[in-house]
Amino acid sequence: MSSSPVERTLVLIKPDAVHRGLVGEILSRFERKGLTIDAMVYRQMDAKLADAHYAEHVEKPFYPPLKEFMTSAPLVALILSGDTAIEVVRTLVGATDARKAAAGTIRGDLALSNRENLVHASDSPDSAKREINLWFPKA
Ligand code: ADP
Ligand code: MG
Repeated sequence: MSSSPVERTLVLIKPDAVHRGLVGEILSRFERKGLTIDAMVYRQMDAKLADAHYAEHVEKPFYPPLKEFMTSAPLVALILSGDTAIEVVRTLVGATDARKAAAGTIRGDLALSNRENLVHASDSPDSAKREINLWFPKA
């Protein structure tokens, strides 16, 4: 049997989820799956952190409204850990465009927007490491 690496991944419960009172629902889905919360903070993203966090997107046309949205109100940032957590969390979150995300996923069940899609989750080991370091430099 191949080994199953315990990974850590960075999750943001975005301002739309906080505004809609969905923090508990979303955290509950991660906890029920068996993932562990290693760190968590309630915080508002500023422009500098947004540009660093979304470095791969800053030149894209959707970035200015995304930045406006992500910096508009507080969010919840957390580190989740568990067996292959990076891919597992992406699967639980669902496709970027919530209108098309599969039923059963967080976005598919609870959102209807391509931008306000409730959750960010790291998409690879490299991005998880980079994003954890940005949000939780001591973790
Ligand atoms: P994901 O969050 O699924 O990793 P991306 O990294 O591609 O998706 O994009 C980052 C975020 O930018 C998305 O979660 C969404 O909020 C926003 N976004 C992406 N593509 C679009 C788009 N075409 N129109 C509006 N917002 C978008
Ligand atoms: Mg992404």
